[in-house]
Amino acid sequence: MNSTLTFRHGIHPEEYKELSEHCRVERMPFVEEYILPLAQHLGAPSKPLVQKGNKVKRGQKIAAANGFVSVALHSPVDGTVTGISLAENPNGQMVQSIIIKADPFSTQQLTPSIPKSYEEMNVKEFIASVQDAGIVGLGGAAFPAHVKFSIPEGKTCRYIMLNGCECEPFLTSDHRTMVEYPDDVMDGIRILQHFLKAEKIFIGIEANKPDAINILHEKAKNSGLPVEVIPLKVKYPQGAEKMMINAIIAKEVPSGKLPLDIEALVTNISSIAAISQWFRKGQPLIERIVTVTGTAVKRPANILVPFGTPMRDVVELCGGITSEAARILLGGPMMGMVQKSLDIPVVKGTSGILILTSDEVKDLSQYTCIRCGRCLEACPMYLNPSLLGMLAKKGLWEEMETNHILDCFECGCCSYVCPSGIPLVQSFRVGKSIIREHNAREKEKEKV
Ligand code: SF4
Ligand code: SF4
Repeated sequence: MNSTLTFRHGIHPEEYKELSEHCRVERMPFVEEYILPLAQHLGAPSKPLVQKGNKVKRGQKIAAANGFVSVALHSPVDGTVTGISLAENPNGQMVQSIIIKADPFSTQQLTPSIPKSYEEMNVKEFIASVQDAGIVGLGGAAFPAHVKFSIPEGKTCRYIMLNGCECEPFLTSDHRTMVEYPDDVMDGIRILQHFLKAEKIFIGIEANKPDAINILHEKAKNSGLPVEVIPLKVKYPQGAEKMMINAIIAKEVPSGKLPLDIEALVTNISSIAAISQWFRKGQPLIERIVTVTGTAVKRPANILVPFGTPMRDVVELCGGITSEAARILLGGPMMGMVQKSLDIPVVKGTSGILILTSDEVKDLSQYTCIRCGRCLEACPMYLNPSLLGMLAKKGLWEEMETNHILDCFECGCCSYVCPSGIPLVQSFRVGKSIIREHNAREKEKEKV
C-alpha cells in the first residue's frame, strides 16, 4: 500500500482514533424538542416556510434557501412547530431557529419527496436539487455543496478529489461512512460524475484507515468509473483541500486562487454519500454521523443524530461524561470550537463532540516568542506565523495582509507546536476578519 504521498510541513499530533474508530454507527432515538438554527451553513441563513402551530413531517422542507450561497432546511422529525425564536448555535451566536416539538409517535418514515431521476436532469436542475436537499460539506465548514459543484463558465473540472482523510486526531465519522456506507459513497460519485465528467476521480484516505481503503478500492475496481483510491501519509492537515491536491497531483493552488483554477474540485466523502441518499431515497440532509469521543466520555461512539438534537442528549446516550471532564470541543482538537455547555443543538457542521480531561487540555500560560522557528516549519502554507503573531499583537493589519495572512486556513499547526503557548491561530482569525471587513468597506466606497 503506497502511503508515502503527502505535502510538505504539517504536524503529527498524537492520535486517539482507537476510542471510536471501530464503533458501528448507532441511531439516536428521537428526543422531545428540536432546535433548528436557520444559519447552519456558510452563506445566507435559510428563510422559514412554517409558522408556530404548523404540523411538520420528517423530511419536510421547513425553510428555503435564501440566495445562491444558502441551502434549504428540513424537519428531522414528525412534530409541531412551537415557535421561531433566537437560540444559541454552536458558534456562540444567538440565531433565529425553528423549534419543533416531536410527535411521540414519530417514525423514521420520510415524507415521500424523491426527486426525478438525475439522468433526466440538466446540470442546472441538478444544482438546484442539491441546494433544495440542504446538502453542505460535512467535514465541518458546512459550505453549500451545490456552490462547489457549480463550475463557472470557462472553467473545467478535470480532477475530482474525495476527501476521506479525516486527519483530525479524534474524529471517525467519515471513517465509519466509508466502511458502513461504501455503496452510497460510490453511488454519489456516479451521480456527481454524470454531471462533472472529470477525467479522474481520486479518493484520498489516510493510511491509518486500511479497512476503508480496502473496501473502497474493491468497489472502485468494479465501478466502471475512473476512480482510484489513494492512501495518504498520516499527517495533519492532510485533509485540507490544498494539501490534498498537492499530495495527489503534485500541483499548488496559487495564493488567492481556488482549486478549480487548476481544474481540481475537492469535496468531503460523507457529503457524497448524502447525495446518493437524496437522489435514491428522497432523504434530504436531516441527520449526520457525529463522533462522540474523548477520554472524558464514558462510552465513545459514532451516532447518527437528527439535526436539532441537544448535544446533552447525545452525550447522555454515550453514558455521559466522567468527573474529570474539563473541556468540550465541537469538531476535532485542532480546528474545533470550545463550548461552554452542551445545551446547544447538533447542526449540519457538527462532525464531533469531544470531551477532554484537564490532563489533555493545554496549559494556557503564554510566554514571549523565543524565535525557535517551529511554527515556520509546521505551517503547511509556508507562512511566517511568528512574524504574523507579532504584527497581530501590534494591530498592524495591513502588514499582516502583505504577509499573506489571508492564505492562512486556520489549521492550528503553528499554535500546536509553539513552546511559548502563543495563541497564534486565534489572533489570525481576528486579523483576517478585520482585514476582510476593511476590504469590503473599501469596495463599497469604490462603488459609490
Ligand atoms: S499560519 Fe495559518 S495555515 Fe499556517 S500553521 Fe498557522 S494556522 Fe495553519
Ligand atoms: S513557535 Fe512560537 S516561540 Fe517559536 S518562533 Fe513561532 S511563535 Fe515564536
